[in-house]
Amino acid sequence: MTSKSHNNQAMTSYDIAIAGGGIVGITLAAILKNSGLKVIIIEAKPLAVAAARTQAYAFSLLSSRIYEGIGVWQDIVPHIGKFKRIRLSDSDFSQTVQFETTDLNTDYLGYVAQHNVVSTALQKYLADCPNIDWLCPGEVTNVIYQEQIAQVSVRTQETEHLIEAKLVIGADGVRSHLRSLAKITTRGWKYWQSCVAFTIKHTAAQNDTAFERFWSTGPMGVLPLPGNRCQIVWTNPHERAKKLQALSEEEFLEELTHYTQGSLGDLTLISDRVIFPVQLMQCDRYVQSRLALIGDAAHCCHPVGGQGLNLGIRDAASLAQILIAAHDQGQDIGSLSVLKKYETWRKQENLAILGFTDFLDRFFSNDWLPIVIIRRLGLWLMSNLRPLKIFALQLMAGLKGRTPKLAQNN
Ligand SMILES: Cc1cc2nc3c(=O)[nH]c(=O)nc-3n(C[C@H](O)[C@H](O)[C@H](O)COP(=O)(O)OP(=O)(O)OC[C@H]3O[C@@H](n4cnc5c(N)ncnc54)[C@H](O)[C@@H]3O)c2cc1C
Repeated sequence: MTSKSHNNQAMTSYDIAIAGGGIVGITLAAILKNSGLKVIIIEAKPLAVAAARTQAYAFSLLSSRIYEGIGVWQDIVPHIGKFKRIRLSDSDFSQTVQFETTDLNTDYLGYVAQHNVVSTALQKYLADCPNIDWLCPGEVTNVIYQEQIAQVSVRTQETEHLIEAKLVIGADGVRSHLRSLAKITTRGWKYWQSCVAFTIKHTAAQNDTAFERFWSTGPMGVLPLPGNRCQIVWTNPHERAKKLQALSEEEFLEELTHYTQGSLGDLTLISDRVIFPVQLMQCDRYVQSRLALIGDAAHCCHPVGGQGLNLGIRDAASLAQILIAAHDQGQDIGSLSVLKKYETWRKQENLAILGFTDFLDRFFSNDWLPIVIIRRLGLWLMSNLRPLKIFALQLMAGLKGRTPKLAQNN
């Protein structure tokens, strides 16, 4: 791809400077293509490295509709997993909840895409776009907020750059430097659990079902990828997660076969086992004058249900909609009154999903008998009470809450 890198020593002016070229940051830039706003994406890693992660994520129906609205979905969809069923189960309890495409009248219930597939499609879409520049690799080191403008200092290998922008976007991930610089406080907690994430190849005949299997040690998400592969995110207490990582491949696959109850046939491990500590975090403010935080910089949640990135994609679509409308009406896109509309739209919706994932993890990672009885009754109710089942499915698919315009016609 041809990416423009910006090498001027002098101060350069933009409408929007996006710090962080992860999926959330470049999704925002992609929606702003052709908006008339001049945008720069500043990414600390080289472009190819930023795109190269192989971690796979569950993509909700809403996220797929946002990418259809942008016009990149046709480049993504041939390379990703698609699931027609979601099966929820409580350890080895026989009652499972199975969601089907007929529950939503859609072709699929969701998708599983590797980071590199989505990033590469978005980077390609953004190449040769006259209103979008890249400064990459370049690390935002400081931001000075003034009344009309923000001054962003960026360190590259060669030099220091100074960029002026009406609005700075913090899309720089969970340890956001922009959030710290702005002294925006956060609330949340670290869980007693870590996730072991890895990819396997299997011999099961069907590969179109996503599983969320709840064990008292933590949930296990099994997400189908093309080529009879699955991404597995297995939550366990920290010590047990470390032990699972350290097991020999043979012992690990034996353990995995036990915990997937043999449903995937013969298994081959085809990636490293990577450990991620799990936390829940929400910023007290998403915005201040000339700054907006999106994606993991603003919030992050337990990976149960595969919601984190989907929330960030929704942030990007909502914020872009507000900024384009403000720009078209001649308003100041960095003013607090414009940015507050984004915070009002997204903060409560994100909090609801953060709460839902926390509830799922705590309610199921528990073997106290009264709780076990209540949740098994809950699973039975969800299986048999259709409105409850549809509500839960719509929530996971991103179909509850306010839909960005970009996704409304798809
Ligand atoms: C085990 C696990 C499984 C998950 N599974 C799912 C799932 O199935 N579905 C789902 O929706 N979510 C999932 N998530 C959550 C998902 O990974 C995150 O929500 C998502 O990656 C956040 O994207 P982001 O673009 O906001 O941040 P990041 O991906 O962290 O991107 C931030 C970018 O900013 C750059 N950067 C950082 N600092 C600076 C700086 N100072 N200057 C310039 N650039 C900077 C970084 O290099 C990086 O490229 C999972 C998370 C975990 C841990």
